[in-house]
Amino acid sequence: MSASVLAVKTALVSDLTSLLGPEGVRDGDEAWPYLRDSTEMQGLSGRADAVALPGSVEQVQAVVAWCYERGVAMVPRGGGTGFAGGAVPIDGGLVVSLERLDRVLRFDPELWRMQLEAGVRTGRVHQLARESGLFFPPDPGASEQSMIGGNLACNAGGPHSFKYGVTGAWVTGLEAVVAEGRLVRFGGPVRKDVAGLDVRSLLVGSEGVLGVIVSAWLRLIPAPAAQIPLVASYPSVEAGVSALGRVLGYGLVPAALEYFDDGCVLATRAAFPGGLHPDARFLVVVEADGTQAEAEALTGELREALGTDALDERAFEAAGDVRSLWRWRNGVAFAVSSQEGGKMSEDVAVPFDALGRAIALVGEVGDRHGLRTCSWGHAGDGNLHATFMIDATSAEQVARAGRAAEELFAEVLALGGTVSGEHGLGWVKRDQFDRQFPPLEASLQRSIKALFDPKGLFNPGKKLT
Ligand SMILES: Cc1cc2nc3c(=O)[nH]c(=O)nc-3n(C[C@H](O)[C@H](O)[C@H](O)COP(=O)(O)OP(=O)(O)OC[C@H]3O[C@@H](n4cnc5c(N)ncnc54)[C@H](O)[C@@H]3O)c2cc1C
Repeated sequence: MSASVLAVKTALVSDLTSLLGPEGVRDGDEAWPYLRDSTEMQGLSGRADAVALPGSVEQVQAVVAWCYERGVAMVPRGGGTGFAGGAVPIDGGLVVSLERLDRVLRFDPELWRMQLEAGVRTGRVHQLARESGLFFPPDPGASEQSMIGGNLACNAGGPHSFKYGVTGAWVTGLEAVVAEGRLVRFGGPVRKDVAGLDVRSLLVGSEGVLGVIVSAWLRLIPAPAAQIPLVASYPSVEAGVSALGRVLGYGLVPAALEYFDDGCVLATRAAFPGGLHPDARFLVVVEADGTQAEAEALTGELREALGTDALDERAFEAAGDVRSLWRWRNGVAFAVSSQEGGKMSEDVAVPFDALGRAIALVGEVGDRHGLRTCSWGHAGDGNLHATFMIDATSAEQVARAGRAAEELFAEVLALGGTVSGEHGLGWVKRDQFDRQFPPLEASLQRSIKALFDPKGLFNPGKKLT
């Protein structure tokens, strides 16, 4: 490290310590947990000059003002579960971790709403809601670790977004610290607000490139009394996708509408609770919810829609069976990874009528690159976890999977889809921004970034470069 870089770093740590106290600063060995996220296969690990852990909104403002004055880059960080490298400090600067901003500021169960600081874990939101008979539907898969600020910044989805929508649909207001440490507030506990431009929605999904989200008002709903999952298996992708189409065509609205292709079935067959039909090559998992009577009635209708061409179907009603099913569901990614020792998964999404073609494309692209593939995902949202199975220790295979992913992105865009339905672009998919957006649309978005962040210090190089 050169003498001048060391001097900047030393000043950063000592100034931050005077702003935040010793408990609000990490550097050296203490910084390493903040240098990675859940980015797969890229071996992505960054370098930070220091990590700030502000304990109040005022401290976030002080840190941002300090950085803005001195031109220091900032990387906002939640639970570090992101799949796009968004929270990884690529080239130094300050990681701003929200973990100490973890207060529930207000919880009005009788009014179905909650105001939280950004560092509250997603699982805690679910638990608080559940304890009061309420429901916060967004359920991205790493909810014990992810934070509500990170969920907002990624506009996270999950299985229940088919019926209930993604995180942004549950946010009525937020506060963020923007350039020069100024605090802005858009929305609040009010459920409808069309007075201005929808800047709240602009900050939701902004992946830390516009500012630091420090708190949010969330909308909740009464928890459904019953949730009944139903699994149907098919001999082929075509039969399964037709069944999915019938669910929509019949006007049925399950809470979740998921699919798993042949490769997933192969990797997880042994773990499937109660076993699978020997000819099963494609699974559809749905969940009917509502009152007990509503859930049962919907289960009956779903059986009818899914039953044609199905090899078998089974409802999971006992609490233990339901838990086993979701445990299996949450283990799919790990089981797939263990096939070859690793995987590269992409979260592309397509219009629903292109889902069958997109599932086939994953295999075709894999074949062209000599890679085993599989896919599963949120079928109702046309969102695939398109997966190339690789030996993670082989640089050649990682590079090959990267080339396959590039090809897949181009094919998905040609189908009218998006390169990211859930995880965002972050660092790993930043090059896709200009592939997905034509020049005018791209430059409008960059102008918005410049308005919020004229010095380009919030998460530089991420999402839109
Ligand atoms: C096993 C597993 C399953 C997953 N399943 C799903 C799924 O089903 N659906 C889904 O959508 N995602 C899923 N994810 C991805 C991830 O959990 C989500 O993207 C989650 O929302 C990230 O939250 P986080 O707090 O960990 O954010 P981080 O990883 O810390 O950050 C993510 C991005 O948000 C920014 N950011 C974080 N906090 C703030 C803030 N307060 N203000 C401004 N910017 C901020 C960061 O700079 C970064 O760009 C999964 C991840 C794992 C590991």
